[in-house]
Amino acid sequence: MPTTWVPLPTDTVYGVDNLPYGVFSTDTEPDRPRIGVAIGGHVLDAGAAAHAVGAPVDVLDAPSLTRLLAAGRETWTAVRAALTTWLTDPGLRASVEPHLIPRQDVVMRLPFEVADYVDFYASEHHATNLGKIFRPGSEPLTPNWKHLPIGYHGRAGTVVVSHTPVVRPSGQRKAPTDDVPSFGPSRRLDIEAEVGFVVGTGSALGTPVALGDFADHVFGVCLLNDWSARDVQAWEYVPLGPFLGKSFATSVSPWIVPLDALAGARVAPPARDVAPLPYLDDRDAEPWGLDLSLEVRLNGHLISRPPFASMYWTAAQQLAHLTANGASLRTGDLFASGTVSGPAVGERGALIEITWNGENPLKLPDGSTRTYLEDGDEVTITATAPGPDGTRIGFGEVSGRILPAR
Ligand code: MN
Repeated sequence: MPTTWVPLPTDTVYGVDNLPYGVFSTDTEPDRPRIGVAIGGHVLDAGAAAHAVGAPVDVLDAPSLTRLLAAGRETWTAVRAALTTWLTDPGLRASVEPHLIPRQDVVMRLPFEVADYVDFYASEHHATNLGKIFRPGSEPLTPNWKHLPIGYHGRAGTVVVSHTPVVRPSGQRKAPTDDVPSFGPSRRLDIEAEVGFVVGTGSALGTPVALGDFADHVFGVCLLNDWSARDVQAWEYVPLGPFLGKSFATSVSPWIVPLDALAGARVAPPARDVAPLPYLDDRDAEPWGLDLSLEVRLNGHLISRPPFASMYWTAAQQLAHLTANGASLRTGDLFASGTVSGPAVGERGALIEITWNGENPLKLPDGSTRTYLEDGDEVTITATAPGPDGTRIGFGEVSGRILPAR
C-alpha cells in the first residue's frame, strides 16, 4: 500500500487503505452537500480535488453518492485508484491539499437516497436469545431459521443519518397482563446494533442475483441502528412481522466503507450444521463473512462488543435470498444484517438481550440503571475491521439521542 502525504494521526483508522465515502456540508455553505472521502483527521472534498488535478471524475462532483453507486464495479475500482493516487503522489500534493477540510469542520449528511430497505435476522445467538425470551420452553430457533435468512421489508423514508435525534415513538402496547391495549409512548425502546450493506448496481426484474455476483452489486458497508419499540413490536408482529415498532427511525453511519477496503476482513462464517440449498451454498466459494468488531456505548459507557464474524448468514447469502424470487435491486437499496450478537454475555447487540427483557437491569457509572432507553439517552455504535499490514479500517459511528414523545 503506497504512503499518503497527508499527515495522519497515530493509529488512525482512516488510512489510505480505507477511504470511506460520505456526503458533507460546511457551516459556511450548509446548502451545498458534496462528496467527501475520510483521510486521517480530514475530509477530502472529492469533487473539488478531481477538478484540481484535471481528472474527469464526474461521479465525484455530486451532491450525493447515488451517481457513483449507479456507475458500477469498474468505476468504483477506477475512482478508488484515482483517489489513492491523488493522496499518495507527492507531485499532486499542491493541487489536492487545499481541498482537505478538518473533520470537525464538516457536517455529515445522509450519503445516498435510500431506495428500498430490508432488515435481516442473521445472528444465531440473537435469534436464540429472543426465542428463549419470547417463547420460553419451546425450541428457540424457528424451523426455517437455518434454511433461509429471515428478513422483512422496512421503511426507507425514515432511514436517517447519525446524530439525527430520535423521537420516542407512540403506539399500541398490550402487556400479557393487560386486558386491552392502550396507546402511548413506548416504554420499551431498544437498539439493535447492525451492519448495513449499500447496493450500487441494480438488477433486472425477474432475474435473481447469484451468490457469486455480490461484489458486482454491493458498493460498501455502513453501521446501522435499528431502533425498536419492543412493546409495540410484541403486540403487532403476529402474524405479519415488524411494522410500526421499527418504522419510526433507522439510523445509519455517514461513512460508507467500500467493499474493496475490506479484503483483509473477510473470514469464513461459523460452520453451518444444516446444508444450505444450492442458491445459498457458499461452501465452495470464498465466503463473505466479515471480521468487524463493533462497540456499543450508552451515554458514553461501553455496554457491549458484538463480533460481526459470528454472524450465521453472510451478506452475499442475504442478497441472493432477497432476489431469489426475481425481486429486482435498485441503486440505493439498503439491507441490514440483523442485530449482531455474539455467544458471550458482553457481546449482545440489543438491550432486550443485555438486560434479558428487563430482568437484569444495566448499571451505569453514574449510578443509574437501565432496562430500556430513557429520554435523553444517547447510543453510539462504532466498529473497526482488520486492514492491510496490521492497520485498522474505521467505520466511524452511528449515534442517536432519544427525545421525548410528542
Ligand atoms: Mn433489526
